Amino acid sequence: MKTQVLVVGGGLAGTSAALFLAWRGVDVTLVEKHPGSSPHPRAVGFNARVGELLRAVGLEQELPASRMSKGFGVRRVRAESLVGKRYEETFWTPPAELSDVEYSPVRGVGVAQDRMEPILRDKARELGADIRMSTRMLEFAQDDEGVTAVVQGDGEPYEIRADYLVAADGHRSPVREQLGITRTGRGFMHTSRSVLFRAPLDEYLKDGIGQFVIDDVGFLTTYGDGRWVLMLDDREYTEPELRQKIFQAIGRDDLDVEIITTGRWTISASVADRFGQGRVFLAGDAAHTLPPSRGGFGANVGIEDAHNLAWKLAAVLTGESRPSLLDTYDAERRPVATLCHQQIFARNDGHNRDGQPDDGPLHDNNAMHFGVLYRSAAVLGAGPDLPPAQLPEQWNGQPGTRAPHVWVEPGKSTLDLFQRGWVLVANDELWADAAKPLNVRYEPVARLDAFGLSEKGASLIRPDGYVAWRATDLPDDPERELAEAFRTSSAGTR
Ligand SMILES: Cc1cc2nc3c(=O)[nH]c(=O)nc-3n(C[C@H](O)[C@H](O)[C@H](O)COP(=O)(O)OP(=O)(O)OC[C@H]3O[C@@H](n4cnc5c(N)ncnc54)[C@H](O)[C@@H]3O)c2cc1C
Repeated sequence: MKTQVLVVGGGLAGTSAALFLAWRGVDVTLVEKHPGSSPHPRAVGFNARVGELLRAVGLEQELPASRMSKGFGVRRVRAESLVGKRYEETFWTPPAELSDVEYSPVRGVGVAQDRMEPILRDKARELGADIRMSTRMLEFAQDDEGVTAVVQGDGEPYEIRADYLVAADGHRSPVREQLGITRTGRGFMHTSRSVLFRAPLDEYLKDGIGQFVIDDVGFLTTYGDGRWVLMLDDREYTEPELRQKIFQAIGRDDLDVEIITTGRWTISASVADRFGQGRVFLAGDAAHTLPPSRGGFGANVGIEDAHNLAWKLAAVLTGESRPSLLDTYDAERRPVATLCHQQIFARNDGHNRDGQPDDGPLHDNNAMHFGVLYRSAAVLGAGPDLPPAQLPEQWNGQPGTRAPHVWVEPGKSTLDLFQRGWVLVANDELWADAAKPLNVRYEPVARLDAFGLSEKGASLIRPDGYVAWRATDLPDDPERELAEAFRTSSAGTR
């Protein structure tokens, strides 16, 4: 069979890739070796940037109402037990500063991975993605024109021929290994055990505190749906021992506790030295394994990879852009993963067990979620002198950053203007004339100050909602300058 893009792996990154590709009209097939989501969820915290991406594809209403606090998500304390004494709170960005700026039309959402994956999968299917569960990719080979994979479901193995392959096959990524792509980072850190259980403990979830470092027991957190997970040291536990640990962590033994399942996790940190080779691209944990942190970098960064890659593949497959655009995937996403790796260890977030946080600049949560900078040939005017992340108000519409959010009318954000094709934000008909021959949609926006523009300026926004280029004022020849900027950024080559 033939498909335009074959996605290997139906976790959060792969399913998001299928969703974003299908939403952009790409013929996509996904193979996942398991029949469904793992009964033991890992991720639960999805940040507001991911919320924005899901809003764009019409999923905002499908997500449960957020339990996240403003700033970032879930608060964490050290405690004697869940019901016992609470000691100090550990902040993700010290000191925890809450900004009054409204960065996004959406908030982060706390939803367990085994609930989130089916939401993404169903939507991807509804949009036409061919999702084949219980189907394993056995081998693949690429040539100049495409990729041939051998996959197997219930029956005999068969071939799938694709123009491109997205490897979202997890941290062990057999695809990455076959390509010989090496990784850099801390590497193996530790192994943890977990027990997933259900217990009526909602009354202890106050003030947005949802994570508890329990002295002498382990780390206790909630999935927000009656399920809790207790992370323990790596050894074998009998069921009575697990119950005893759970009761110790709760600080009560008079509750109904249902043990659902247990898990064993290898916690490690590394970033692939290349995010692709030829017609194969890595996304999610295959590209970067980031230990779970309150930055929620693992799954969130993987979903953002999928989003970045999807519009580029769609543009190249429709012939709107040249294949050189695909080189900017590595140029844009790998530095973000490396920055997340650095930020995890620069914070006191439980991963610096043997010492103090690493030296190095700390970036605000909102800078990490809404203010990472892309430097690539698909962006004009983002030089090496700029920092890798800043708050949106500091960037003020800088090319290479996510276009700013302001309300254009009640319930409609500037972000809602983007994602479908290229857009020129300005407020002068002269720019509308310049945009027309390029098939770039002109969107008049009153609040040009939020984009760092004068009344005569214009910003060119890419289909992923990032600023590609801007003229802060009216240039001598707007038509020529816009055409040049569009040609360069859409081709991803200078
Ligand atoms: C305890 C824990 C808590 C976490 N909490 C958070 C959090 O709150 N927020 C957050 O952002 N991140 C969190 N993370 C990290 C997050 O879970 C991962 O980053 C994310 O799930 C990775 O998704 P993925 O799709 O890249 O990979 P995976 O989920 O590993 O999916 C890869 C898929 O590929 C499939 N596959 C592999 N090879 C093949 C093949 N040959 N053929 C077919 N299928 C194949 C596998 O079966 C698997 O389903 C947490 C991690 C852990 C361990």
